[in-house]
Amino acid sequence: MTINSRIPGFKDLTVEERRNKIGEMVGFTEDDKKLLSLETVPRDVLNRMIENVIGYFPSPLGVATNFKINEKDYLVPMVVEEASVVAAASNAARIARIKGGFYATTTDPVMIGQIQVLNVDTPFFAAQKILSEKERLLKKANDLDPVLVKFGGGAKDLEVRVIPSILEEMVVVHLLVDCRDAMGANAVNTMVEGIASDIEEITGGKVLLRIISNLADRRLVRARAVFDKDALGGEEVVDGILAAYAFADADPYRAATHNKGIMNGITSLVLATGNDTRAIEAGAHAYAARFGYYGSLTTYEKNKDGDLVGTIELPMALGTIGGATRAHPTAQLSLKILGVKTAVELAQVAASLGLAQNLAALRALATEGIQKGHMKLHARNIAASVGATGELIDKIAKKMVEDKKIRMDYAEELLKKFTGRN
Ligand code: NAD
Repeated sequence: MTINSRIPGFKDLTVEERRNKIGEMVGFTEDDKKLLSLETVPRDVLNRMIENVIGYFPSPLGVATNFKINEKDYLVPMVVEEASVVAAASNAARIARIKGGFYATTTDPVMIGQIQVLNVDTPFFAAQKILSEKERLLKKANDLDPVLVKFGGGAKDLEVRVIPSILEEMVVVHLLVDCRDAMGANAVNTMVEGIASDIEEITGGKVLLRIISNLADRRLVRARAVFDKDALGGEEVVDGILAAYAFADADPYRAATHNKGIMNGITSLVLATGNDTRAIEAGAHAYAARFGYYGSLTTYEKNKDGDLVGTIELPMALGTIGGATRAHPTAQLSLKILGVKTAVELAQVAASLGLAQNLAALRALATEGIQKGHMKLHARNIAASVGATGELIDKIAKKMVEDKKIRMDYAEELLKKFTGRN
């Protein structure tokens, strides 16, 4: 099904109208619609997902529009509690569209499983002995997951490192596993546990930890886009964004917030698809520090036409099967809205979304400041939080924005004034 993610006026529709619009485009069933209307909370699913469940915590599921990635349009589901994130992503994607949208590539979806070996007398000698047994170890690992192998994945390579530590020189084995459409933690953990006794026999040491690494630097995604200078607001805005990027690149205090903005988008999509947000966050931030200092996950330059060109590169351990992605019906619905076929394609959407989110934040920061757009949306939350309902929410929010006093105390004052209550 070919969809057009450019939906003018989408933001002005009611929740039901938006749901119907997306439903028409991607073909919602009655059950799909029910799921989104919160009439059916999948209690048994939630109860199976974690322990000691007492209820559920609803978060809004929004859809970012305007995304075009590798010449294909996407509607991007996002679950996030922060106002203006979805709007900002849609806005940046609209600008990127002018020059063709986003282009993204990935490496193979290879994860690293680590095996820590202690008490090895001759670590470097042992490391070579392990490498000599590589084919046998890979075969044993692959025998543990024939399904993954059938889909073209499985253990592909093995590396051995000797790393100094405060206790001793440790031998650390890295098993490289192509996880195809799975995030892969369970698959990889099973494999490293499965070959641990062989590693002990080969090295004469003692295996302790056997676990996946979230620094998934063999599973990278890259995305790039050209942002039209006029649509951004002119040359001055382009230069402002470049200066904002240079700041992030030079200073970890700024880089942390810069990358947090990127993750505003990525984490929202990760959550919407039932993937592991902590795994993605850990991978992103560790990767940002890979050169020994904490830097930006994006880059920006100005091209010959004066347009802004942006790139992003980061690890992206996402699955479309496994974990909660299959078990959670709303996560399945998110994948249906997205229309992605593989985990690699999902990763490409995630990286493009991260770049869009970052561009939107830098543009706002370099021009009017982040608070204007942000607080406009947030004003409604504040009005509601002091007890305003119905039309009063908008009335109070509007007045707070006009008076540039978007605060609880002022919202309370206005509520009293408009309702005549004390
Ligand atoms: P999983 O074990 O549920 O599913 C993966 C399995 O699905 C594969 O091993 C394979 O046998 C099968 N499969 C079927 N079709 C496939 C296809 N097309 N491509 C790939 N595999 C296919 O899940 P998982 O992805 O191995 O593990 C993810 C879960 O592990 C997440 O819930 C995550 O939160 C959790 N976890 C994470 C960490 C961590 O990040 N450090 C640690 C432990 C657990």
